[in-house]
Amino acid sequence: MSAPLAVRASVLFPMPLPEPFDYAVPDGVDVRAGDHVLAPLGQRTAPGVVWALRADDGSRPLKSLTDVIGGPPLGEADRAFVDWCARYLVEPPGVILRALLRSPGALRPSPVETVYHVTGLEIARLTPARRAVLEAAAPEAVTAAELARRAGVSSSVVTGLAQAGALRAEEIAADPPFDAPDPDRAGLALTPLQEQASAALRRMAGAGGYQAALLDGVTGSGKTEVYFEAAAEILRREPDAQVLVLLPEIALTQAVTRRFAERFGAEPAVWHSGLSDKARRRVWREAASGRARIVAGARSAVFLPMRNLRCIIVDEEHDPTYKQDEMLTYNARDLAVARSRLSGALCVLASATPSLESLVNAESGRYVHVRLPARAGGAVLPDIELLDLRLSPPEPGDWLSPTLAAAAAETLARGEQVMFYLNRRGYAPLVLCKACGHKMKSPEADRFLVEHRYTGRLVCHVTGFSMPRPEVCPSCGAKDSLISVGPGVERVAEEARRRFPDQRIEVFSSDTAQGPDGIRALVSSMEKGEIDILVGTQIAAKGHNFPRLTLVGVVDADLGLAGADLRAGERTYQTLVQAAGRAGRADRPGRAILQTWNPDHEALQALAAGDREAFLAAERSVREMLGLPPFGRLAALILSGPDPEALETISRSIAAAAPLADGVEVFGPADPPLSVVRGRWRKRFLVQAGRQVDISAYMRAWASRFKTPPSIRVSLDIEPYSF
Ligand code: ADP
Repeated sequence: MSAPLAVRASVLFPMPLPEPFDYAVPDGVDVRAGDHVLAPLGQRTAPGVVWALRADDGSRPLKSLTDVIGGPPLGEADRAFVDWCARYLVEPPGVILRALLRSPGALRPSPVETVYHVTGLEIARLTPARRAVLEAAAPEAVTAAELARRAGVSSSVVTGLAQAGALRAEEIAADPPFDAPDPDRAGLALTPLQEQASAALRRMAGAGGYQAALLDGVTGSGKTEVYFEAAAEILRREPDAQVLVLLPEIALTQAVTRRFAERFGAEPAVWHSGLSDKARRRVWREAASGRARIVAGARSAVFLPMRNLRCIIVDEEHDPTYKQDEMLTYNARDLAVARSRLSGALCVLASATPSLESLVNAESGRYVHVRLPARAGGAVLPDIELLDLRLSPPEPGDWLSPTLAAAAAETLARGEQVMFYLNRRGYAPLVLCKACGHKMKSPEADRFLVEHRYTGRLVCHVTGFSMPRPEVCPSCGAKDSLISVGPGVERVAEEARRRFPDQRIEVFSSDTAQGPDGIRALVSSMEKGEIDILVGTQIAAKGHNFPRLTLVGVVDADLGLAGADLRAGERTYQTLVQAAGRAGRADRPGRAILQTWNPDHEALQALAAGDREAFLAAERSVREMLGLPPFGRLAALILSGPDPEALETISRSIAAAAPLADGVEVFGPADPPLSVVRGRWRKRFLVQAGRQVDISAYMRAWASRFKTPPSIRVSLDIEPYSF
């Protein structure tokens, strides 16, 4: 499109500005909506995206665009998604755009780069610097800058080695494409139930356009195989279609990636926060340009631009890790549904323990309810038993009841594996002085320090602050008076080692399994039977298939029942079903034993009876009565500042500014569960509204009615998880 008439472009910058700015398009410049451009902004030139073009009515003189830069343009659906998120999350659109453009240097053109291979040629003068470079270059060819960085030397050492013949330079495409998936490769032969479910999804895929399905299947029912068929149908229908798969944890990406490779003959492009800059840039570009057909990633992948997005799959849709609470606050599951609608894509939400939100949507017909009520291959669901600790309490100093320990001994004697599940990292959640009662608190947050015995440190799980475990009480000076209170996984492992000295015991938590490699190593040892007893946190309880694991002992089934989370009951139910669901596969029935002091609790009773409907019925009647989600809406407004008194004063004036509206109630200001973090105090308002209320609009109206000094930070949370 050349520009016969004067045209103005409104440009959105990836920054917290209230709206796009208008620029004149210089004559002869070909620019379209979605293009990346440079434009003058204040004293400098900044990159942005053309949000709209219209005829310039000449009403006021405009600055001109500086340049059109390369990079895959942002499609119409993705721009609509940015606008939708901005409205829903009550954020400036530029903040959402920034989330989409997050890849460093995403827009820089980088067609080729030079990488270096080791030739094997022996050279005479091998200085330590040169040796370091050769060692760093051994596993994979990388650029001179990267080699120099890894070896801790200057780039001239690399070029010197190349001249000497010990390294060979090669030009490669900077962003090699991902292999194309083949939808017609044969997958596993589906069971009749799986076939029915996948036929339902294939029909939806075949219809084209937006539809949403809740794939509701028990643990081990083969939901992955079934959603693969939906993805295959999408890829078959349209030569350019792209599929986005969201996974709750990087931990699961590994396993799912492998299964994708088996099913489609190609690995998906994988996106998560642990990628190197270069890998991020590659995935970003391939996704945004439309070349990567299948993209899998953690929650932030919901913001990856995709030209031809036709299907989003949200695996374990109930998982709390989809909710991001820092920086931009969002729930990737909710955004995925909205994005599917805007893109005319099929949305599949999969879970063994769907959220009440999704179940209610399925009941009302907004989602098609696709069920998988049995495990694949004749495997039966684990038998879930409640162990009443009042009747069979652990010995003092123990955490495992004699009954659970005996069941573990039997299981191990049969050569099968045991998992003790406790969702608490470290050794003990509290350290206190038995002389004066002093409790070791975090200096950075109102939380106790958690003892980690493997590292000998006390750690704040909110801020990461840590210190060595002191020898004397910092309060009264008594020596050797600090005692560890309560169990974490390290402590349960200690007990397991004492009880089962001949067994191979490992702890599986984010401390012991660091990064994707650490997780893969532990998962693979477990699969190969190199571990007899796994003591794990929630990271061990999600999605893995351990065929030889037949007993899951939940050390503290009550953990999580209390607390400020409106979903506490639901969450406990989900976590325990997931943990128990690790037990037993095809030929070996599994058993789950849940230690509890509250065997009468509704969630636990329903779990033991295998009666999900009973649990849900109770849960929904409470929420319905209280007008809580999904029967009502919630939003939170959180203020933080360095001075508690100033914060108090400002909170009161913000309370007074809250607009009156029908069906909306404002509670607060109150102290949130975490009322101080790193020297910043927090106050929180909770807004509760009827389903018919546009709570985002209400929050926006409220936010426009007050101003805060720069020392006070204001953040909004639409559909917060805790209160
Ligand atoms: P879910 O996600 O529902 O818990 P998965 O898709 O992970 O279940 O499948 C559970 C296990 O069963 C996996 O090891 C998978 O390979 C196996 N499986 C699923 N469906 C089949 C099938 N039709 N034939 C053989 N194995 C299957």
